[in-house]
Amino acid sequence: MTVGFSVEDELYRELILDHYRNPRHHGTLPEATVTRQAVNPLCGDELTITLQLHHGQVKDIAFAGKGCSISQASASMMCDSVCGLSTGYAQEMVGRFRAMVLSDGSPDDLGDVEALQGVKRYPARIKCAVLPWNALSDAITDASRGNQRGST
Ligand code: ZN
Repeated sequence: MTVGFSVEDELYRELILDHYRNPRHHGTLPEATVTRQAVNPLCGDELTITLQLHHGQVKDIAFAGKGCSISQASASMMCDSVCGLSTGYAQEMVGRFRAMVLSDGSPDDLGDVEALQGVKRYPARIKCAVLPWNALSDAITDASRGNQRGST
C-alpha cells in the first residue's frame, strides 16, 4: 500500500526522522530526582525517563531505551519541549499531546511536537507516540506524591 504524502507530511516526516537519528536529551540524568520506566509490548518500545525536578520546575529531563522511530522521536521532542517548564505546565503539555493524537481536534500550540499528529491515522502507532508522555505524566505524579521511583 502506498501512502500519499503532502508537502507538509514530508516536512513532518523529516522532523521525526531527525529526532530519531539525533535524539535530544538522550541518556540518563545522574542527578535525577524521579525515574520512570515505560514499556509498550505491542511494539517492543522500552523507555526510561529521568527527571530532575526542583521547586516545581523541570530543571532537566532525559530519556534512554530502545524502540521504533515514533516512540524515540516522540520522547526526544517531548524532552525538548518540556525542559525548563513548571511541572504543572508540563502536565498541560501532556494533556494537549494526548488530545492531539487521540481526538480529532487540531493541535494546540505544541511546536515541533505537532509533527506527530499524523500518527492518529495509524492507530497501532498511537501507543508508541503517547508512551513517553504517559511516563512523564506518571513521573511528575510520582514525584508530587513523594514516591521517587516507579514503573508501569
Ligand atoms: Zn513503537
